[in-house]
Amino acid sequence: MLAPHQNNRNIVYAKAYMGNILWWAGTETAQQYGGYMDGMVESGLRAAHAVFKRWLNQ
Ligand SMILES: Cc1cc2nc3c(=O)[nH]c(=O)nc-3n(C[C@H](O)[C@H](O)[C@H](O)COP(=O)(O)OP(=O)(O)OC[C@H]3O[C@@H](n4cnc5c(N)ncnc54)[C@H](O)[C@@H]3O)c2cc1C
Repeated sequence: MLAPHQNNRNIVYAKAYMGNILWWAGTETAQQYGGYMDGMVESGLRAAHAVFKRWLNQ
């Protein structure tokens, strides 16, 4: 069983999957301030930037 915040800052959440169509967001996936609202914002911005970057490169 996972303890709360056990996987915070895990690099696997910063990568895209399934041929760059699946990204993770949410405070528990943040590289900084995981578990807090700052982490929610950081992870949301990271995922949104990744999605837009992929769209722009198509
Ligand atoms: C009691 C409490 C007090 C807190 N106080 C603070 C504080 O003072 N300062 C601070 O920085 N942080 C605080 N936090 C932490 C902060 O609330 C979280 O870090 C933040 O809300 C995480 O945002 P999130 O968007 O990552 O996840 P969430 O806010 O959990 O959002 C996830 C959303 O996904 C939805 N969802 C889940 N499963 C599905 C599904 N299958 N399909 C569609 N939608 C789904 C959920 O309904 C939810 O709306 C507190 C947390 C708690 C519980």
